[in-house]
Amino acid sequence: MGNLAVQIMSTLSDLYSEFVMPTYGRFDLEIARGAGSRVWDFDGKEYLDYGAGIAVCSLGHAHPEITETIAKQAATLIHTSNLYKTQPQALLAQRLVGITGPGKVFFGNSGAEANEGLIKLTRKFGSETGRYEILTFLGSFHGRTMAGISATGQEKVKKGFAPLLEGFQHLPFGDIKAVKAAIGPKTAGILLEPVQGEGGIHIAAADFLRQLRQLADEHNLLLLFDEIQCGLGRTGEWCGWRSLAPDIQPDGVSWAKGIANGVPLGAFWASSNRGLCDLLGPGTHGTTYGGNPLVSAVGNKVLEIIERDNLLDNAKARGAQLRDGLLAANHPSIDTVRALGLMLGIELVPGITAIDTVKALMAGGLLTIPAGEKVVRLLPPLNVTPEDTAESLDRILKNLPKA
Ligand SMILES: *Cc1c(COP(=O)(O)O)cnc(C)c1O
Repeated sequence: MGNLAVQIMSTLSDLYSEFVMPTYGRFDLEIARGAGSRVWDFDGKEYLDYGAGIAVCSLGHAHPEITETIAKQAATLIHTSNLYKTQPQALLAQRLVGITGPGKVFFGNSGAEANEGLIKLTRKFGSETGRYEILTFLGSFHGRTMAGISATGQEKVKKGFAPLLEGFQHLPFGDIKAVKAAIGPKTAGILLEPVQGEGGIHIAAADFLRQLRQLADEHNLLLLFDEIQCGLGRTGEWCGWRSLAPDIQPDGVSWAKGIANGVPLGAFWASSNRGLCDLLGPGTHGTTYGGNPLVSAVGNKVLEIIERDNLLDNAKARGAQLRDGLLAANHPSIDTVRALGLMLGIELVPGITAIDTVKALMAGGLLTIPAGEKVVRLLPPLNVTPEDTAESLDRILKNLPKA
């Protein structure tokens, strides 16, 4: 009883400092509820949510069809383990293969786990020829598991966690010469985000992607795209890389974030080429929850709605509206804007930090996400309206801090 009384009298901040591990530098904002592109705090203050849970809530908050899907599936069958076959998982796999190309899908629970799968696939592939090394890139982000931080090209995520998983080299993003030079007898694959998200919205050049494909073919390597942030409609195409180089096909793709609107789901696809999609046989890989009926039903519904409501076109149109509005304003605090569909990065001029900007925009009623020291990310829901987009532009331009 004593403990209960303490809890009731504590503020949310007190509870966090006492009971939740301090792994996140959380903002001083307590979100009470959401609807569409907006969220509200406990005082009723309204915010346009242009973080969307870090590119997760593709259809916005409290989408009625998602709510209905969750309720219906929960009342039918939530979980069975992967010892049995269930309809929603098989249908979602079919859908993802339809989007990506001939191959097969494995379901996990997060982005890091999806990349972990791509890494294990590459190890298995290379094991026949004694190869295991994966080339990745500086500025990348591939998740927080040991393999994820080993693959990630940012020192800050690795500090204190040595020894890391071996077999990764980090090369300058976009530098094909460096890639050529790094390929050796142990190289088995190349892993990259076609659009680096956490690293600050850095968009790969189409030719870089094509040259990577060519190198992978020449040296019998796997070309792996981490589409956890840029995939499934975010860039205005189902596959992020197809916004850049629609003529190439990778050997593996990872997804999470936008795949199920906030219900935890991750997945990776392996191509049918070279028998890759059957390489991980019974007993080689697994996870208890992965792709259970509840999350898979939601994934199916998310992809169905994106298609039915032409949200790829909307992502392109609203992305262009935002980008053009930002550029046209010629705001003195904006250095550059990088954008592909609804994945936008505002790079700030020297003297203005991303974190101060995010806080100023929050005070002005717009949630955004920092990416490094000097880039603010805009990742609104894919169904954001032209009116909300205009409103967001207004809130950005009014509230951007001055140098
Ligand atoms: C978020 C992200 C991850 C990690 O996903 P989690 O679900 O947080 O494990 C990996 N790669 C990219 C590109 C991401 O944006």
